[in-house]
Amino acid sequence: MTAPGSTVGNSAASRDKAFVLHPYTNLHAHETQGPMIIERGEGIHVFDDGGKDYIEGMASLWCVSLGWGEERLVQAATKQMRQLSTYHIFGHKSHEPGIDLAEKLIGLAPVPMSKVFFANSGSEANDTAIKLIWYYNNALGRPEKKKILSRQRAYHGVTVATASLTGLPNNHRDFDLPIARIIHGDCPHHYRNGLEGESEEAFATRLAEQLEALILAEGPDTIAAMFAEPIMGAGGVVVPPATYFAKIQAVLKKYDILLVADEVICGFGRTGNFWGSQTVGMQPDILTCAKQLSSGYLPISAVMVSDAIYRACVDESRKIGTFGHGYTYSAHPVAAAVALETLNIYEERDIVGHVRSVAPAFQSRLKALADHPLVGEARGIGLIGALELVADKATRTPFDPPGRAGALVNGLAQDNGLIVRAMGDSIALCPPLVISEAEIHQTFDRLTKALDAAVPVLRG
Ligand code: PMP
Repeated sequence: MTAPGSTVGNSAASRDKAFVLHPYTNLHAHETQGPMIIERGEGIHVFDDGGKDYIEGMASLWCVSLGWGEERLVQAATKQMRQLSTYHIFGHKSHEPGIDLAEKLIGLAPVPMSKVFFANSGSEANDTAIKLIWYYNNALGRPEKKKILSRQRAYHGVTVATASLTGLPNNHRDFDLPIARIIHGDCPHHYRNGLEGESEEAFATRLAEQLEALILAEGPDTIAAMFAEPIMGAGGVVVPPATYFAKIQAVLKKYDILLVADEVICGFGRTGNFWGSQTVGMQPDILTCAKQLSSGYLPISAVMVSDAIYRACVDESRKIGTFGHGYTYSAHPVAAAVALETLNIYEERDIVGHVRSVAPAFQSRLKALADHPLVGEARGIGLIGALELVADKATRTPFDPPGRAGALVNGLAQDNGLIVRAMGDSIALCPPLVISEAEIHQTFDRLTKALDAAVPVLRG
């Protein structure tokens, strides 16, 4: 609480403005606008401090798969807190929650994986993957094979290295990024980057050819790995064109380049399969995941590595000693226990089966909005999707200035009791996986109202 005599008001909003530096927020606008305070959650709903009810159409930040108030996760956390509230796994120490979770993840992996490294966030998982790749190539005596391929509009995190991988200007500008040895290739967005009349397959072929040209220009012996989200999330929900990953992977294999699947959003049922890799046909050497791993209830992430990578790291460690990487909270026992219980719930309630049963309703309501006067493209798969708002549907001309239409619809959706996320002028939806078909219809009814209300403002 605010000290007596302070000029800061006592409300949460004024104390927020006084003390909190917000992530991913327009800091200047926040000084006048202030925060929206969320007080509690229940199922797929959250409630603000005025008691207003919102459908959380983004599952917080793409993570609250089981919705709010899942008592079994509360119980799992409480039980573990009492037994061993915290402990590390450095220097040969270990504990059962970490061991159990690693074993479970290896059993669930989409391709044979050997070991699991734990971290606390998606960014840390991807940062770890970069370090493992460099360590691996040093172990193999290829110190020059270190460059990492990413893609325009990719999102892989915000640490110095992972923000560099991220292919969005806002994450680079004024942060002096990207760092060296990170290369951005083409974004596989057919609607924006396909040529006129080009089929998805032809587009995928061209992207693979462009990737090969990029690799040859850089020198194949200098390129270690490529990172890719199965479905790009924060870059605007981009579903790759048919045959894309088969063609991309053939090129990577040819030049001995590893593939990292960033499953931070797609993992755990989001796309209608347990892993996004299965949906798009990726066979990664490294897989990173977070978010829905614990239904977002506690911070935890994981990096799974193939046996070849693990063996090379062991060899290097035999030569140089300790593998010098790890977080205080790697495999935090409470987070691990909650993640394990989350995975048990996914299995018991057949969460993938549920996603498959409700996804047709979600996708058909989403795709029907392609006919709306403001929508240029409606895209998605499983329980993830986006609407790209355009000034002119026929010419696909974006709104000017960019972002205004997205922000407007975002605000109108909120007025109508729906939280979505505007990424520029694309409106994303990624609801809790437990959403029912009736709730899907409510979600789209609210979104349609918001879009309709935006028409006179944007076209008027
Ligand atoms: N990778 C992907 C695909 C993501 O969507 C995100 C976060 N939205 C991250 C990595 C980074 O995760 P975190 O914010 O937990 O660091």
